[in-house]
Amino acid sequence: MDNKIVGILGGGQLGRMIVEAANRLNIKTVVLDVPNSPAKQINSNEHVDGSFTDLKSIIQLAEKCDILTVEIEHVDVEALKYVKEKFGVEIYPLPDTIKLIQDKYLQKEHLIQHGISVTESVAVPSNDEQSLIEIGNKFNYPFMLKSRTLAYDGRGNYVVKTKESIPEALEFLKDRPLYAEKWCPFNKELAVMVVRSIEGEVFAYPTVETIHKNNICHVVYAPARVSDSIAVKASVLAKNAVKSFPGCGIFGVEMFLLPNNEILINEIAPRPHNSGHYTIDACVTSQFEAHVRAVVGLPMPKNFTSLSTTTTNAIMLNVLGDEESNKELEICRRALETPNASVYLYGKSTRPNRKMGHINIVSSSMEDCESRLDYIIGKSSKIPE
Ligand code: ADP
Ligand code: MG
Repeated sequence: MDNKIVGILGGGQLGRMIVEAANRLNIKTVVLDVPNSPAKQINSNEHVDGSFTDLKSIIQLAEKCDILTVEIEHVDVEALKYVKEKFGVEIYPLPDTIKLIQDKYLQKEHLIQHGISVTESVAVPSNDEQSLIEIGNKFNYPFMLKSRTLAYDGRGNYVVKTKESIPEALEFLKDRPLYAEKWCPFNKELAVMVVRSIEGEVFAYPTVETIHKNNICHVVYAPARVSDSIAVKASVLAKNAVKSFPGCGIFGVEMFLLPNNEILINEIAPRPHNSGHYTIDACVTSQFEAHVRAVVGLPMPKNFTSLSTTTTNAIMLNVLGDEESNKELEICRRALETPNASVYLYGKSTRPNRKMGHINIVSSSMEDCESRLDYIIGKSSKIPE
């Protein structure tokens, strides 16, 4: 398996877990990011120190690799196109896919063109009060104002609650390119990881439920606590969305389940995703291995994205940096005391609300997962058996 070297743009936790999966298949990886980033810490290969937004660094990476992939979509796409042309390096997801997805508004227009249901949105023609007043008249309040680019963990979103809050919203998002979205009064947020092979075949992981706190993913329930028909509907929507992007690799599809059971796509990530971390312990093949297999062109047998036969339920809890430095490690310690729970720490220095790690809990029932979670978060004091 080791005849192709995979370069990864970005060395955060997603890169780190891609490296782990590649290592198990004896596939060599080279990481481009700042020195000692999480992915580099666990990989002794010769890496590239630099930025995934810098042409020179991307050239250095391409010179060392046969295939490039990303753990983050905020990369320099023109540089990727250049190295593809110049060095003949394969790049997955395709640079054009990354480019479309980078701009959340273009992403939505693309999905609409392919008949995929998405949240209703409009471009903000210029960042001034009048434009937003017109949008408020169209969408009513609240509506969601979003940066088209470089958004993550809610940093890039502003809820415009009233006409009076428009100046604050403009101040918050300053000179960023903006679009606005109709408010979605969702009952639940759902997500599906979809992996696409080079032949264009798509495989969906189970439909899961994500719970956000302060715009940051907090807990994931796998499978989602919804009827089978809703789970299937979400899965079909996610697969159809991913079919609209040529090339291969894994995609995370975020959706809203509305009170009338309609499902709309919120956004798509062209990479492994926080909502798919549960797959490491709950599925036959993790999202990270699925991504590696896809970009390297390794086999993807039928059902390789399914839950493992002994695990029917899982909960993933994100470990976020506490206000009190390193206090989040107490939760990790309790998780280590808990049977059926696994702890993943990313090797980052602690900062409030930073994604420091995650905990996976697996079981044959969701109730059992929940009682284990209760112990881990300190809601109950009895260590589960
Ligand atoms: P990010 O790139 O930060 O993940 P998202 O667009 O996914 O940005 O928004 C983060 C969270 O904000 C979503 O998971 C959801 O909870 C909430 N949100 C986003 N868009 C809307 C909307 N149109 N209506 C209601 N809530 C929304
Ligand atoms: Mg999101």
